[in-house]
Amino acid sequence: MVIDGPMFIDGEWVKAEQTFEVINPATGVVIGSVADGNQTHATQAVEAAHKAFASWSRTTAHSRSAILYRAWQLMLDNKSELAALMTREQGKPLKAAANEVQYAADFLLWFAEEAKRTYGETIPSARPDQRFIVQHQPVGVVAAITPWNYPISMLTRKLAPALAAGCTVVVKPAESTPLCAIEVFKLLQEAGVPAGVINLITASDPAPIGKVFCEHPAVRKLTFTGSTAVGKKLSQDAAVGLKRVSMELGGHAPFIVYKDADPVHAAKGASLVKFLNTGQACICPNRIFVHKNILTEFVETLTSRIKKMRVGNGAEEGVAIGPLVDEKAIVKIENQVNDAQDKGADILCGGERLTGDTFADGFFFSPTVLTGVDDSMLIYREETFGPVAPVIPFDDNDDIIAMANDTHYGLAAYVYTKDLSTALRSVEQLNFGIIGVNDINPTSAAAPFGGMNESGLGREGAREGLLEYMETKLAGFSI
Ligand code: NAP
Repeated sequence: MVIDGPMFIDGEWVKAEQTFEVINPATGVVIGSVADGNQTHATQAVEAAHKAFASWSRTTAHSRSAILYRAWQLMLDNKSELAALMTREQGKPLKAAANEVQYAADFLLWFAEEAKRTYGETIPSARPDQRFIVQHQPVGVVAAITPWNYPISMLTRKLAPALAAGCTVVVKPAESTPLCAIEVFKLLQEAGVPAGVINLITASDPAPIGKVFCEHPAVRKLTFTGSTAVGKKLSQDAAVGLKRVSMELGGHAPFIVYKDADPVHAAKGASLVKFLNTGQACICPNRIFVHKNILTEFVETLTSRIKKMRVGNGAEEGVAIGPLVDEKAIVKIENQVNDAQDKGADILCGGERLTGDTFADGFFFSPTVLTGVDDSMLIYREETFGPVAPVIPFDDNDDIIAMANDTHYGLAAYVYTKDLSTALRSVEQLNFGIIGVNDINPTSAAAPFGGMNESGLGREGAREGLLEYMETKLAGFSI
């Protein structure tokens, strides 16, 4: 069945003259036909959001919180349907899709709670007749652009805090995953979000929509999750109107296994976080540094675990690795693997595209372990976004922190050690926004997520995630 996907503007489900197709990346089958929005639609959506801001921003935090609670409940009630759709549209295995829906719902709950805690403060003045009061107010209309790899949680990570703060929003989801976005909007509408407060523009060409978001004077904030290249371009364009920006961009996570670490435990962690979402997560390790003393045991464990991972359609029981997003992703990975092999890396398993039988019409790459990787290779610098684990040996003579920091990215990093001082020193010296210490999942709606350097600006989730959508206003009283 092909799903018909409209946009959502000013409380109405709107079709467009043109549509574009959405395919299942595991089968190549068309699953949706979605409205192809243009600049007129984007402008209408921004103007609807602008009009709705006047009343929405004056609602109480308690009433906004109540709507977010209802949305949280509705998302949990619809968890299995949303997960099944996500698997069809994005490809990840059903269990991972259900975990993502839970993570997405966590943001609705967290910001339903935080909405009521946008405390201001009073500040003592040097003048006896003066009093300072600081308040937080919503920034205004927010334009949000989201990626395909986490098609529901990346939406709620922006929508929930924006709504909690009292902002109105226009969202453009990724071209390959608009159906998940449409379902989220249906739930928010059912939860009671008023007309105009949230708007959804789907489009096959993102650039004209991005232009409206960056240029329309009513948009006061642009929040983007996606690649560093696009994030930089949008930041430049948004700077013309001096709009606030939040940028959640690419990563190139180092995964350091010190010589005192348990190599089996570390290899288990690496196998789980590297192959998360078929390696298509911004926090996936891209350089796995392992001390020479424990290299053999680490690599043996990693390889044997990876060889057991079943690749296939995420809708099938027992599949651990789903398809990649598209042909371009396969070509990029093949290029990195071939380059590494040409420059001396060894392929211990995988290393090639999967074709034939059930793989014929999808985008599948076999989970791969590369050893002997060094800094001359493309994979050492470029984000892979695929199921390839590059292992780089190091020894006591190497400055491992400098090696790990040798990237323009700065999103996630991982450290495996049993030594407290090594762990703490690493956390202090690594230039990354999120660091897992013997932990492969240092993320939660309650914890600030975001990168340093070219991995982005700002934080999502946590207390910080709400302040990204608020202005700080100072009032000085003379009494
Ligand atoms: P992308 O190509 O940058 O696309 C992200 C979003 O931006 C999509 O909605 C895309 O639309 C849109 N877009 C592309 N060009 C645009 C333009 N000129 N103007 C306006 N919008 C534009 O990234 P992606 O391939 O979807 O996502 C993968 C990247 O996201 C990776 O680098 C990953 O590390 C990063 N990511 C970061 C985080 C984080 O929290 N830091 C989380 C997830 C992913 P179309 O789909 O129509 O092209």
